[in-house]
Amino acid sequence: MKINSIVAFLDSWAAPSLAESYDNVGLLVGNPDQEVTSALLSLDVTEEVVAEAVRRGSNLIIAHHPIIFKGLKRITTASWVERTVLSAIENKIAIYAIHTNLDNLLGGVNSEMARRLNLQNTQILRPIPFNLEKWVTYVPNEYIEQLKEALFQAGAGSIGKYSECSFEMEGKGSYKPLDGSSPFKGEVHVRSEEREVRLEVIGRKQNSKAIYKALIDNHPYEEVAYEQIELRNLDQGNGAGLIGELEEEISFDDFFELLKKTFGLKVLRHSKILNRKVKRVALCGGSGSFLLEDAKRSDVQAFITSDIKYHDFFEAEGRLVLCDIGHYESEQFTSELIAAELKRNFGNFAVLLTEVSTNPIFYTPWPKN
Ligand SMILES: [Zn+2]
Repeated sequence: MKINSIVAFLDSWAAPSLAESYDNVGLLVGNPDQEVTSALLSLDVTEEVVAEAVRRGSNLIIAHHPIIFKGLKRITTASWVERTVLSAIENKIAIYAIHTNLDNLLGGVNSEMARRLNLQNTQILRPIPFNLEKWVTYVPNEYIEQLKEALFQAGAGSIGKYSECSFEMEGKGSYKPLDGSSPFKGEVHVRSEEREVRLEVIGRKQNSKAIYKALIDNHPYEEVAYEQIELRNLDQGNGAGLIGELEEEISFDDFFELLKKTFGLKVLRHSKILNRKVKRVALCGGSGSFLLEDAKRSDVQAFITSDIKYHDFFEAEGRLVLCDIGHYESEQFTSELIAAELKRNFGNFAVLLTEVSTNPIFYTPWPKN
């Protein structure tokens, strides 16, 4: 199997189009036509991780954080980023980044955090706007099932917890074939009228190309009449952060204990504790301060994220408890999530988890013990 097969699969799972505009995801280093030996999964790519890949005979590193983020003007040995990239190139090791596209996916980084906390009734905290499209086409009755099936296969027809959603309405269509046409039915220069079905399905933008291809390939007409309409509906399947409910209402003491146990915390920074219990929580793996206002509007008692600044803690305003569990800690299960997805799809393909802790932050208890 070639590296390209893994890339294609990961791109279809967490579409690069879901990534934030500032991000840099996908295959960053390497030859996609190279045969893949095994994949090494890590939150970050460091020189140590590349050395580990060499040692364990793995020629593909899949990481959450992109090693090339703002661009590189040279690849020398001047900085740790350049040395890491150079070492990967010298050792023919490819690097793939699956970053904010995996953050913005239901079933991604945040869903994994929620799963570990056993949160119920989870939903996206800030759904992506303008990510949905409505596709409308007009098709003869005898082709409707084949076309519907192809559209569903291409990812259309998914609404929340439902798939294969569509709407049909029968009517009459007309057309007059012009010079050079070869109509499915009717004669050139004669207006034809046919019974047709108006078929409507909803699709996500990341599936637009596949949906268009399914439509054109499975529609019998030479010229397919269709409409692709951008919707204002929020996409409940893609977006930043997550909200969910604990199995039962618990005290903040017990909640902090749950965080400590689930994420193996050595330290927890938080805003002032509320005089009530915790049931609904919001969370966002990595730096989630940008979602604070969304969390405050969501009637949650706690917001779990990381990289919270001093001034942000004031903004909790007694409406929720801001919990900073650490960036690495919040995203530590991401490699296992990707590994599980690869194993589900590729069966016996060797997927390795890094043995290197790439967390650049260390905690020193005081007084030292
Ligand atoms: Zn991160």
